[in-house]
Amino acid sequence: MEIGPSLYLGVPRVYSVPLSCTTLRVVIPTTQSVVQLRLPTHVLLNPLSFLTSNPMPSALITGITGQDGSYLSEILLGKGYTVHGIVRRSSSLDRPRLLGQYNDPEIYGKRLFLHYADLSDSTSIRRILVNAKPDEVYHLAGQSHVGLSFEIPESTCELTAMGTLRIMEILRDQPKNPKFLHASSREIFGTPEVSPQNESTPLNPNSPYGCAKSFATQMVRIYRESHGLFFCNAILYNHESPRRAENFVTRKITLAAAKIKLGLQSKLTLGSIDSARDWGYAKEYAEAMWMILQHEKPDDYLLATGTSYTVREFTQAAFEHVGLNWENHVELDQRFVRPADPECLLGDATKAKEILGWTAKTKMPELVKMMVDEDLKSLTQSTR
Ligand code: NAP
Repeated sequence: MEIGPSLYLGVPRVYSVPLSCTTLRVVIPTTQSVVQLRLPTHVLLNPLSFLTSNPMPSALITGITGQDGSYLSEILLGKGYTVHGIVRRSSSLDRPRLLGQYNDPEIYGKRLFLHYADLSDSTSIRRILVNAKPDEVYHLAGQSHVGLSFEIPESTCELTAMGTLRIMEILRDQPKNPKFLHASSREIFGTPEVSPQNESTPLNPNSPYGCAKSFATQMVRIYRESHGLFFCNAILYNHESPRRAENFVTRKITLAAAKIKLGLQSKLTLGSIDSARDWGYAKEYAEAMWMILQHEKPDDYLLATGTSYTVREFTQAAFEHVGLNWENHVELDQRFVRPADPECLLGDATKAKEILGWTAKTKMPELVKMMVDEDLKSLTQSTR
């Protein structure tokens, strides 16, 4: 019998604990039956602790207020985890993506805990990690905008590259090293010579963001191989959702299509519309992050849909969904064209499929509809 994170059997009355084991014989008090448990890897070294402490795993998420962090926290809470999130101090207490969890008295303060820190503040991060003692750490925080990284390269590298290294150093010092997932990016490949790309494609970044992610990605590999730690990279291709920030091109397009339909905006300005991207649904990528840390061996996995569409096709789909012809509403402006923008990016997620059983189910056409519908709904509610 395999015990997953959400299976609670009651406190066993009798158990036999060999010094070193991967399975445990347990008498369940409610049924008096004897079951053999295969232990999750995090309790292999100390099986007794599994029986005497909280059987539900705990996780810490950096970037919990972001698109992916908010989906991941919902997924983990749904699986019975206790979730700790790191949030930055800001002048507004609004955390719209976390509202559902924050306002739930059964969740917030009981199984969801938010802690103030910043990636540049390693003392606070150390304190939170030492006190929370998470079984799993999902490191999603960072300056996530590729185009902006050309304008703020120093802070992008400081937070995304050095910030990740600082967290790994803290984790290396802990008596029980948590599993660690780093949100890497397809930007580590820059403008690749091969298509599609996979986990073995050489790193060749061409943006400050890609360069910082490459450093962190390679450091994760070094810590895994040199220190024997359960550290993994999720090499993420673009993934979107109604929770995507409005300064990303996909959300800019869906919001504009909805606003133009409702008469709240007249034009949409875009840069390069011929760039092609492999766009998936963020919630499915957050689920894959969890799956990566549940596998028995730490490794890197590329997550992508394997299908690529141009910005032009995305725009056309968004406007068609609200019954409009995009060509009547879109204007092009060279100022929005990113330096060194790769023409076509396509990921091969075969390894994630074969080893984890994960595939991206939602493709661009359904994703666009979901995003436009949510934008229409929230705009209609807010203008009432
Ligand atoms: P996002 O929505 O921009 O969220 C970024 C998160 O990082 C936010 O919670 C943000 O907090 C936090 N953060 C930023 N700087 C911080 C700092 N100095 N200290 C502490 N927290 C900080 O990004 P996402 O789309 O969820 O992406 C998650 C991760 O995946 C990122 O590392 C991103 O680079 C990577 N990734 C994403 C994609 C994609 O297509 N979405 C593709 C490849 C890789 P605030 O809410 O306070 O700003």
